[in-house]
Amino acid sequence: MAATLAPHSVEDVLELLRSRGGRVTTSRRVLLAALFEGGPHRTAEELAGEVQAQLTDVHLSTIYRNLDELERLGVIVHSHLGHGPATYHLASETHGHLVCEQCGTMLEVPEELFAALVRAARATYGFVVDARHFAVVGRCSACAALPARARGDVPAASRAEVSGSL
Ligand SMILES: [Zn+2]
Ligand SMILES: [Zn+2]
Ligand SMILES: [Zn+2]
Repeated sequence: MAATLAPHSVEDVLELLRSRGGRVTTSRRVLLAALFEGGPHRTAEELAGEVQAQLTDVHLSTIYRNLDELERLGVIVHSHLGHGPATYHLASETHGHLVCEQCGTMLEVPEELFAALVRAARATYGFVVDARHFAVVGRCSACAALPARARGDVPAASRAEVSGSL
């Protein structure tokens, strides 16, 4: 059976693991429960903390290994939302991200938003864009609406010129 659809429950994933000869360990089960119940955008360390709250002797390296394996199996994907560590999503619940460099606000957006870019990159360069892996950064509507002086991204010299000309 072609597993083209991402699994939608812990039991689905455990079945997939078994069918690929993987072992179903308690730490994997607890990690999967955390992934399915806690929502997206958690880092490996945050997920490790949740697993370790229940299983105190699970090492961080085990969590990383399990996350890698789940990613290879197509169960989860990771996204970089800024300068911080990768955050994890269930493959059944992916989306694109717009992150404001000014205030850190993050918008989840449908991947269709990038459809024109994906089409053009493929047609022109033969390049296959992965719009999920990294966030698109910029300024959110609130920050973009602020005058340049309030944003603090204008050098002091030109700021003085601006206020002098007012
Ligand atoms: Zn996300
Ligand atoms: Zn902002
Ligand atoms: Zn990455």
